[in-house]
Amino acid sequence: MKNSHLPLMLLWWAFILILSMDLSGAQACHFFYFVQQWPGSVCDTRQSCCYPTPGKPSANFGVHGLWPNYNDGVYPSNCDPHSPLDLSKISDLLGRMQSEWPMLACPSSSGRQFWQHEWEKHGTCSESVLDQRRYFLTALDLKREVNLLGTLQAAGIQPDGGFYRFSSISNAIKAATGHTSGIQCNIGEDKNSQLYQVYLCLDSSANSFIDCPILPRSSCNSDRVAFLAF
Ligand code: AMP
Repeated sequence: MKNSHLPLMLLWWAFILILSMDLSGAQACHFFYFVQQWPGSVCDTRQSCCYPTPGKPSANFGVHGLWPNYNDGVYPSNCDPHSPLDLSKISDLLGRMQSEWPMLACPSSSGRQFWQHEWEKHGTCSESVLDQRRYFLTALDLKREVNLLGTLQAAGIQPDGGFYRFSSISNAIKAATGHTSGIQCNIGEDKNSQLYQVYLCLDSSANSFIDCPILPRSSCNSDRVAFLAF
């Protein structure tokens, strides 16, 4: 190849590069993680927990968050400092938020700080897909649609402090959703591996469940996973 072609080729590659860049400045995410957590396992750690001001949440999975992600596992965060949580946009959802997206950190509060953290860190990175109201509503509706606790109970997996095989939990969720979930365990006060968080994946418009392009690392014991009472 003649050297005289080099500037032309460089120009061509620069042109292709510019075309492939998102000129709006916000990189569209590839998929979403929808993450739910078991409150019994959030609370059964050395750090413990505090119930939110309305009182102890019901014994059900709670939403942790809806997180835009890239296929390589990297994720954007805190994308828009000019978009604070605005409770007036979700005033009609607050009852559901308190029961289905409960804050369990101390000191006790209504949950505002937790929702604000999730919105600012994750929600602001998918604003082009889900505005603030749709972000929270989508997560609440997904939780209802999945009904994780009902799914596990139907498979005989009860939050009764008993132990279950990791594969039984994973298979029950796959049978109900059609997709492999990411399952995380934490270690409780009695040093057991316990069911902590469940990740499901959604397409880039947060419309349909998909197979996760990348699963979070599971730290669960394969033979003995405790499903704590709450
Ligand atoms: P994230 O930054 O979205 O990955 O969430 C992790 C942060 O959320 C950590 O600081 C956790 O302690 C906190 N967190 C997780 N679950 C809850 C909860 N139910 N209530 C309050 N904070 C939580």
